[in-house]
Amino acid sequence: MQFRTRAIHVGSEPDAGTGAVVPPIHVASTYIQPEPGVCGEFDYARSGNPTRKNLERTLASLESGCGALAFASGMAAVHCVTMLLKAGEHIVAATDIYGGTYRLLHRVVDRAGIQVSLAPSRDLDQLAAAIRPTTRLLWIETPGNPQMSITDIRACAELAARHNLLLGVDNTFATPVLTRPLELGADIVMHSATKYLGGHSDVLGGALVVRDPELFDRLYFLQNATGATLGPFDAFLVSRGLKTLALRVVEQSRSAQRIAEFLEGDPRVSQVLYPGLPHHPGHELAFRQMNGLGGAMLSLTVPGDLARTQRVVQRTRLFHLAVSLGAVESLIEQPATMSHASYAAADRAAHGVADNLIRLSIGLEDVRDLQEDLDRALDA
Ligand code: PLP
Repeated sequence: MQFRTRAIHVGSEPDAGTGAVVPPIHVASTYIQPEPGVCGEFDYARSGNPTRKNLERTLASLESGCGALAFASGMAAVHCVTMLLKAGEHIVAATDIYGGTYRLLHRVVDRAGIQVSLAPSRDLDQLAAAIRPTTRLLWIETPGNPQMSITDIRACAELAARHNLLLGVDNTFATPVLTRPLELGADIVMHSATKYLGGHSDVLGGALVVRDPELFDRLYFLQNATGATLGPFDAFLVSRGLKTLALRVVEQSRSAQRIAEFLEGDPRVSQVLYPGLPHHPGHELAFRQMNGLGGAMLSLTVPGDLARTQRVVQRTRLFHLAVSLGAVESLIEQPATMSHASYAAADRAAHGVADNLIRLSIGLEDVRDLQEDLDRALDA
């Protein structure tokens, strides 16, 4: 079956008992056991729930994995991966990552005695130079956040394999519609399901997908032992979102391309960071790795300081001023004070989170209305 067919049919089989074409939401927290010590497929909701399981089956299919795990948030999913490591071991993470991942690695994971280094993942030499004998995990995001840098997943997978590391890819921005990291050699795919998978700004969730059953068992053990699982109502919402994922991501990416081209020629804009533009340093790679599209996220810089940038982001009417991304409604934000505010000031500067940087999440509105909205805001 093709991707769009699987998004609709895998994990969403009609209910055998009633004939309902959408499976019911199972809310039970516990399950009757035929005798002490013996249980069926489900025994307790933290360990497994049929509605969550349906979502996990869809996700495993869309990401070409052997199995998936659904979490209460994207951060819970990243945290679960870091729990594979123990004190004295080391993580190399890309510089261009979500601010919350940076905070988790530098202010929570480090307390367990795990060391973290950052390196620009689009530069394989620098990435390789950051690897130590104790490194166990390479963590990348592509397109990167908020610079929209593009990382070569296949090359990272080869590097990871040479050093016997796990390669984890935060695939939140690209989604499996544009990129399937497991097919390119990654070991773990992670999602903030809050974003494109859910797609409607009405659910918080996260996911891991892997291709190795033994790694799946280790992650499942950690998830069940620590308990940050996704609830059944939220799992249902993400499952519903997945059915239109491909249509949304393709259409939103096309709009983003048009907006990037519109902004690029504008004298009120200093720089447009979008992989779909030919001058973007990752353009060629993005088109190979992202199914010929540049994704629906883009960043731009405007001439001026923090205050001027804040005036611009407060002036749009359709683009809501809010963190998050990937939903049907377009969003605008200032990474330096919003999504990436948890970066240490020095790291913000070093990693391109400039005061005059603006990040856009392009939604499903008519692109002409979005352009008009930006046009007005840029006069601020
Ligand atoms: N990864 C990326 C790329 C994100 O944008 C986010 C949230 O903005 C996360 C991870 C964290 O996900 P959540 O907010 O669902 O915990």
